[in-house]
Amino acid sequence: MKIIESIAEMQVQSRAWRKEGFSVGVVPTMGALHDGHLSLVELANARADKIVVTIFVNPTQFAPGEDLDKYPRTFEQDKALCEKHGADAIFFPSVDEMYIPNASTWVDEEVLSQGYCGASRPSHFRGVTTIVTKLYNAVLPDIAVFGEKDYQQLQVLKKMTADLNFPIEIIPGKIWREESGLAMSSRNRYLSDEEKEAALSIYNSLTEAAEKTSKNSDLLEVREVISEKISSAGGKIDYVETVHAETLEKVDVVEGPVRCLVAAYFGPARLLDNIQLY
Ligand code: AMP
Repeated sequence: MKIIESIAEMQVQSRAWRKEGFSVGVVPTMGALHDGHLSLVELANARADKIVVTIFVNPTQFAPGEDLDKYPRTFEQDKALCEKHGADAIFFPSVDEMYIPNASTWVDEEVLSQGYCGASRPSHFRGVTTIVTKLYNAVLPDIAVFGEKDYQQLQVLKKMTADLNFPIEIIPGKIWREESGLAMSSRNRYLSDEEKEAALSIYNSLTEAAEKTSKNSDLLEVREVISEKISSAGGKIDYVETVHAETLEKVDVVEGPVRCLVAAYFGPARLLDNIQLY
């Protein structure tokens, strides 16, 4: 497995693979890899010949005061895991490699990125769409795999990829969970055991809601029940929303596919989860 730190070298490698007739898959991550990330690597492996895991803690998707500095960085461990799960290369650039000083061009998706995480973190998705474009330009992939764990991000990136005519197929990966049901996240390591236990209220309330939701459900009521369960476990709700699964428009009645999106703080960690309600 190769470790590649420069964009030029990544492009040379990718072109060489393509010349030999191999397809290329990319799995963009910020490192601190867990089984959720690794499930995406395996999914990529089933769909493309050569797999590049990118590891880059992208400063432009963090706002001032967020956890950029303390975001976990575990490269040696990540390297061993990527190797074990069949990655062919890790693209591991520095911030200076990815961002030219005084860069003044951004990629902005203007519809699906509004609201939800986009409301709580106003410059976040602009950072995500810009870095993913740059990663596409470095890796030159045929497919890109993103997790449903970050559901709004997945929809934004699908839209961006289509809008900008990138010849890249987006493959969504299912949410990987701890045995308890807690969605795996690099940020779970900020949680104490008690906070982890309390944070289970997110998954438990979502699965209960999914079991109970029918065509006639009042989604306002569904949201209230979920919020109440998370709050009474000690969580601080950022948002609980019921949305159309593709357009991400808010819905109060079941008319098409409905996804419930949750963001809530437990201790220092802002946790995301979501489920298909109908
Ligand atoms: P991150 O390193 O958190 O930026 O995530 C990198 C990729 O892994 C994104 O596409 C995430 O949606 C995905 N991901 C993160 N956690 C999980 C999980 N528990 N299950 C599946 N995919 C995940």
